[in-house]
Amino acid sequence: MNEFDFIEAIKQQTYKQASVIKGIGDDAAVIQSSVNDLVTAVDTFVENVHFTWEHLNGFHIGYRALAANISDLAAMGATPKYYLVSIVVPDSIDQQSLLTIFDGMNELADEYQMDLIGGDTVSGKELVISITVIGTVSGKITRYRSNARNGDIVFVTGTLGDSSAGLYILNNNVNIKGKEYFINRHRMPTPRIDFIQPLHQIKRMALNDVSDGIGSELQEIAHASNVDIIIDDTLIPIHHDLRQFPYDQQTEWKYYGGEDFELVGTVDKENWPLIQQAAANIDVKVTKIGKVIHKKAINPTVYLQKDKQLSTLKKSGYIHMNRRKCNES
Ligand code: ADP
Ligand code: MG
Repeated sequence: MNEFDFIEAIKQQTYKQASVIKGIGDDAAVIQSSVNDLVTAVDTFVENVHFTWEHLNGFHIGYRALAANISDLAAMGATPKYYLVSIVVPDSIDQQSLLTIFDGMNELADEYQMDLIGGDTVSGKELVISITVIGTVSGKITRYRSNARNGDIVFVTGTLGDSSAGLYILNNNVNIKGKEYFINRHRMPTPRIDFIQPLHQIKRMALNDVSDGIGSELQEIAHASNVDIIIDDTLIPIHHDLRQFPYDQQTEWKYYGGEDFELVGTVDKENWPLIQQAAANIDVKVTKIGKVIHKKAINPTVYLQKDKQLSTLKKSGYIHMNRRKCNES
């Protein structure tokens, strides 16, 4: 299959978005501009760095790569519209597997009404997939990380650590209850678009998606908003089957596992019921895990309340602090 045939094979026959004036087939795509703001992000996945064929088939590789990108749009409160795929194709990959990667992306693109409007195809030593997503948002409600305010409720969707557990199960061939669930959460994560979409009436909300783990994501919100955040260990939602793993492993995964692509955010108390309702409507769990405590000009910090002790939740790995010292600061 030459490059021309390949592009023909992955090209959509029709476009779902009426705003696509020109998709694949010219030097660049053309999109009709809208009254909303455009939101765009790019993420790159390298074979044997970000994924391996040992654990994922082509469908999973494509699905997961697009899911991670859509998750970034969800974290801005944006509606996904279009994507472009730049792919480095190694000789070792067979035609069928290559097309299956696009099938995986297509499955998700259909779910969110996204159009593949362009990309680039080159050959190289190993498989590299770089996806650019474009979405739109009403500028009044963009969910910046800098939107957290004193007194806000801190919440997270879904359960944390599932993807890490799935990867561990695949790597170590473990047999436990819920095995398929965890593996599936690793292979085909759900970007939380359906959760953010009905929340347009909430004017201010800070959001971040869980790609690195909430230790890191909450720190980014605290930093961008110049606030402190305190979360309670007993409130962090994990899947009941995760409890089969050693306690330290659970702890590591729920704070630092990442790649769950859940949303973590802050919202004022008044709007918390709307968040709960939106989650209930789509049968997704949402959990209050803490609050934004106060504005501090220097060194915004995420605190973890655990076993009657207060520690600083680090971006990776957490250290205990003298409780009294913390209360004084
Ligand atoms: P150009 O020479 O202008 O870069 P190409 O031959 O690279 O054009 O691509 C032809 C058309 O196919 C363009 O519209 C481009 O966006 C699209 N295209 C190429 N590779 C991909 C891909 N991997 N995914 C989606 N569209 C692609
Ligand atoms: Mg090109």
